[in-house]
Amino acid sequence: MDHFLYRDGVLHAEDVSLLDIAASVGTPAYVYSTATLTRHFRLFDEALEGMPHLVCYAMKAASNQAILKTLAALGAGMDVVSGGEYARARAAGVPGERIVFSGVGKTEEEIRAALEGGIRQFNVESEPELLAISRIAASMGVRAPVTLRVNPDVDAKTHAKIATGKSENKFGIPIAKARAVYAEAAALPGIEVIGIDVHIGSQLTDLAPFEAAYRKVADLTAALRNDGHDIRRLDLGGGLGIPYTRSNEAPPLPTEYGALIKRTVGDLGCEVEIEPGRLIAGNAGILLSRVIYVKEGEGRRFLILDAAMNDLIRPAMYDAWHDIVPVIEPQPGHERTVYDIVGPVCESGDTFAKSREMPELKAGDLVAFRSAGAYGAVMSSEYNTRPLVPEVLVKDDHHAVIRARPSFDEIISRDTVPEWL
Ligand SMILES: *Cc1c(COP(=O)(O)O)cnc(C)c1O
Repeated sequence: MDHFLYRDGVLHAEDVSLLDIAASVGTPAYVYSTATLTRHFRLFDEALEGMPHLVCYAMKAASNQAILKTLAALGAGMDVVSGGEYARARAAGVPGERIVFSGVGKTEEEIRAALEGGIRQFNVESEPELLAISRIAASMGVRAPVTLRVNPDVDAKTHAKIATGKSENKFGIPIAKARAVYAEAAALPGIEVIGIDVHIGSQLTDLAPFEAAYRKVADLTAALRNDGHDIRRLDLGGGLGIPYTRSNEAPPLPTEYGALIKRTVGDLGCEVEIEPGRLIAGNAGILLSRVIYVKEGEGRRFLILDAAMNDLIRPAMYDAWHDIVPVIEPQPGHERTVYDIVGPVCESGDTFAKSREMPELKAGDLVAFRSAGAYGAVMSSEYNTRPLVPEVLVKDDHHAVIRARPSFDEIISRDTVPEWL
């Protein structure tokens, strides 16, 4: 459920016409709905009602400060995966005690900055990282609160590039080694062990892999407590999938996911954290684009858009499907045709959809990529010296540019040319 609906024949974001946004901001542009972000955050928060919990939004999904502020005001914590994300969350006003730090390659600078600025916990992914955190924390005269991210060796049954919970993936500490590493952690001067972390992948459309992983976490909790560790917090990761097509079977709802959490780890007396990213931001954003040309190829018809793979890389990178819909609502009995939908970038990978049946469109028409709010703008680049795609946030009947489109001068002036040239 989102707040991008046709109204009087025009696609709207909440109460704002996308025609108006295209006219004032230009295209391509990302447009987010505050009501949808809010609704999705609350679904998770309410699903965990009755147990101590914190929903830590995985901000790598969509990290504009306006989005972070929207969610933080509802009580969200943040899951960050880099020093840059940590700084961005702090800039958006999120206090350190609501920020968890994930990621396989935290550097010394990142660890130090988080300890100085305040951190809820580090989710530690390896023994070398554990030693580094201990050394840095001890040198500052503090103990760093940590969970160890365990790799439960379960198949998340998702796209290979976003599966993280199998033993062959680079993530976490093998669960079979966990007790030994916890014993090592407990003996380190700069470490305070507080819990367990697990995250098995993204865009999961079935609860069974979560259930398998969380049962292993529950067993590990008991074993570690037996070993004398004070396990009081469980970070259960993110990964719940969203429907990318209307026709697809709907993935499980946050309520079902919450019930699963209560069923598997609810009686352990632990505080629970979850780190959803995609489900909060995905359907809360669209990418607005304009048709530049309709080109007749050899037995193919190309819809050439002003958006490209540098603006939305998911189709090229993950073979992802996005529904692409006209901003002007198609009337009953409209002409339909089959397009390859592409961008202007100079490689064949710049294809959003092949042989996609669509209402017939013409140059100048506007289209919207649905479900583009997560892993959209954050993965954009300036490839082909295309300006970084702007972002717009809608709330009720008003909208604001939350990241402006840079001018060519701004882009070009970031280069520095050595004096010998
Ligand atoms: C990416 C990631 C998430 C968020 O995953 P979603 O599929 O967007 O919910 C949560 N936790 C960690 C550690 C991640 O790397």
